[in-house]
Amino acid sequence: NKQVIFKGFITGAPKESDMELKEGKIKDRVPSGSGGVLVKNLYLSCDPYMRGRMREYYNSYIPPFQPGSVIRGLGVSKVVDSNNPNFAVGDFVSGMTGWEEYTLIEDTEQLRKIQTKDIPLSYHVGLLGMSGFTAYAGFYEICCPKSGEYIFVSAASGAVGQLVGQLAKIHGCYVVGSAGSKQKVDLLKNKLGFDEAFNYKEESDLDLALKRYFPSGIDIYFDNVGGSMLDAALLNMRPHGRIAVCGMVSQHSVSNPDGIRNLYCLVMKQIRMQGFLQSTYLHLFPQFVDRMTDFYKQRKIIYIEDMNEGLESAPSAFVGLFTGKNVGKQVVCVSRE
Ligand code: NDP
Repeated sequence: NKQVIFKGFITGAPKESDMELKEGKIKDRVPSGSGGVLVKNLYLSCDPYMRGRMREYYNSYIPPFQPGSVIRGLGVSKVVDSNNPNFAVGDFVSGMTGWEEYTLIEDTEQLRKIQTKDIPLSYHVGLLGMSGFTAYAGFYEICCPKSGEYIFVSAASGAVGQLVGQLAKIHGCYVVGSAGSKQKVDLLKNKLGFDEAFNYKEESDLDLALKRYFPSGIDIYFDNVGGSMLDAALLNMRPHGRIAVCGMVSQHSVSNPDGIRNLYCLVMKQIRMQGFLQSTYLHLFPQFVDRMTDFYKQRKIIYIEDMNEGLESAPSAFVGLFTGKNVGKQVVCVSRE
């Protein structure tokens, strides 16, 4: 059982050498009476929040990884042995698993059986998984969008951002995205239907860049990055605008997070800025799967995935999230069946 092991707590940006590939043992049968399942892992999800679990003191809803243990994350897997009447051998499931070939999962409460057969399996960690659900809950529940409004999305070509922008287009909004390369900007404008997009790395003044794309201001900012982009967006919000704080990927690895200077805009423009966790809205998950599946089948939504091949490529895939290497949702294929 090949495994990716977390070596020890880190500071700064994650490096491939913070993880190592090892050969480990796994029980080949589920202990009787355990209620668990043994799964073969097919697709692993790389997510920025996992950087937080590499810190010793992580003030979070989820505990740190233990040094020397297998990295844990969301994935799509196939049941190969079961001691649980809800899961049969051959079922495909999505949920928390290990970065390894086979995982014994005892907490089966969190597993979802994959029912939809006509959508690629790997999409269940992205389009129809946590990333898609974050976009869905954040956009409809936090942004309170109205047709015709002006929306700005950062990290717009990533797993969450690409879907927020497309949901906003379906909703009749004007959408601008920022991303870190020409390739990503072209993707946003030419394939994903964003009205405009720009490469934030080429802008010396983010405030001026936003003024260029939103001459009369922003109604909704869907923030994936925090830091200086958030500060510039605050200056450009319209009265009664909304800022959905989804994440702050620019701040994960820095020891002195950027100071935000323009918070007073919240008062003057009566802006609502709200952080959220997708897990709070899980009651909406079934309607999300139905609606997203329909959008996808009707080709109203295009989904971009960045697939790395082989478990051994998982550390570099994960590290790439913090340098912008991924184009679309970063997934690692461990096995196709
Ligand atoms: P992405 O697929 O967007 O990958 C991360 C991207 O972030 C990179 O590709 C890169 O794109 C961008 N990035 C990396 N470093 C920086 C930086 N220093 N400054 C600006 N941009 C940077 O990841 P996800 O879509 O999975 O996640 C997006 C955000 O959503 C994250 O902040 C994540 O933590 C958050 N999230 C929140 C959830 C919640 O419940 N609130 C749940 C899931 C995710 P580029 O080349 O454009 O710079």
